[in-house]
This record gives sequence, C-alpha cells and structure tokens, in this order.
Amino acid sequence: MSAAGTAGDRRDELALRLRAVEARVVAACAAAGRARDEVSLVAVTKTFPAADVVHLGTLGLRDVAENRADEAYAKQEACRIAGAVDLTWHFVGQLQTNKAGLVAQRMDVVHSVDREKLVGALERAAERAGRRLRCLVQVDLGLDDPGRGGAAPSEVPALAAALSAAGHLELAGVMAVAPLGSDPDEAFARLATVAAAVRRDHPGAGLVSAGMSADLEAAVAHGATHLRVGRALLGSRPPLG
Ligand SMILES: *Cc1c(COP(=O)(O)O)cnc(C)c1O
Repeated sequence: MSAAGTAGDRRDELALRLRAVEARVVAACAAAGRARDEVSLVAVTKTFPAADVVHLGTLGLRDVAENRADEAYAKQEACRIAGAVDLTWHFVGQLQTNKAGLVAQRMDVVHSVDREKLVGALERAAERAGRRLRCLVQVDLGLDDPGRGGAAPSEVPALAAALSAAGHLELAGVMAVAPLGSDPDEAFARLATVAAAVRRDHPGAGLVSAGMSADLEAAVAHGATHLRVGRALLGSRPPLG
C-alpha cells in the first residue's frame, strides 16, 4: 500500500547492499594479499534514519559513522531506545571546538582531528566526561588546494605527538579522503607513507581510515584498516547530504 515500502523491504535492501559491498571487500583483500579480518567496514549513516542503523546492526555491522555531532546524538538516542546498543560510533566530519564536548561524551572514535586546538578541546572534554577517546589524525592529501579539512602531511607528526601526550585521548592512526578528481591509488599511496611514519614514532597507532564507496579497492590495496562506506551500503543521499 505504501509507496515507501515496509521496514522489512528496507532491511532486505540493506542486506543485499551489504552482501555486495562485502563481496567487493573480500575481492579487494584477496587482490592485495590481505586477510579479510584486517579490514573493518564502517557504515556512514549520515542523513539516513536511525532505523537503518538498527537494521545494519541486526545484519551484523557494528561500526557506524556520522559527520555531524547533533545528528549523531539524536541517532544514538533512537538506537538506544530501539535496543541497538553494542555499536561503535565513529565521527568523520569536520569538527568545531564548540562541538568537542558532545563528541567526547558520545562518540568512540574521532577520525577528523586536524589541528592542535581541537586536541586541547577534545582532551578537556574527554577528561570532563571521564572517557578515553580514540583519535585519528586527518591528513589532507590535496597537492596544492587546501581541501575540506585535514592537516598537511608536514603537520602530522606534531599532531600525532600532541594526541599521544593527551591523557584522555589515544592516538589510533590516520584518516584521509581522496581529493576530488585525484587518482585514489596515488592519494592512498601517499597516505600509506604518512601512516608508516606515524607508526614508526607510535607503534600502537595502526589504524588507517581510507576508502569510501567509490574507491574502497584502492584503499585496501594501500593498507586501509577501516573503510568508510555510505552510498554503496545505504543508497544515494539527498543532494548536500
Ligand atoms: C560521507 C562520507 C563518507 C562515505 O562516502 P560514500 O561515498 O557515501 O561512501 C566517507 N567518509 C567521509 C568523511 C564522509 O563524509
């Protein structure tokens, strides 16, 4: 009766999409000579309803990413009420210091630490919240145009050191988005170099968050441990989503 279909239809659609993405990840790992369990699939659920997060949880996905603190908070509340509580929440958006408190209280992994001021704000907020927050340094891989967030590769060692020294933050690794119009292979190869340098200074910081719907294969080939997949799993977002 309803043109929008039922919750069961949506769950079936998500199950099919998840199976297709999983097949891509399996093939990419095989091509790269990597074990499937070296790579985590993180569902980027921004703009999609909490019901989708709940469906993905029942389909076995445990990692969820959002890019806006307020939207993430509302979705977490809805998931909690729906009983979907054993999820790891990732924050992947540009983060203003005035949202650091909310993010430190509610998220588990912050992928987008790109300046020292943010390290200070997150550390104070995590201390207040009595939490320990895993953090990744977001690297700007744009060659000449300063992109949408991310620290220049030359700034990464100092940021990594600041995170590592913060008592309530844990330096977990690095994150990047392949610049628009770039060759993802070339971009993720550069990220791998930055990631290796961070690991030399901080052996525990092994996470490499890279790869989205369009370029996850290239990311796996260059050592990604966390793929952030939105549209391939959930369908197309409304414009400006
Ligand atoms: C939206 C988003 C993604 C997912 O992109 P898709 O193309 O939908 O897979 C990954 N990373 C970040 C930082 C995002 O904002």
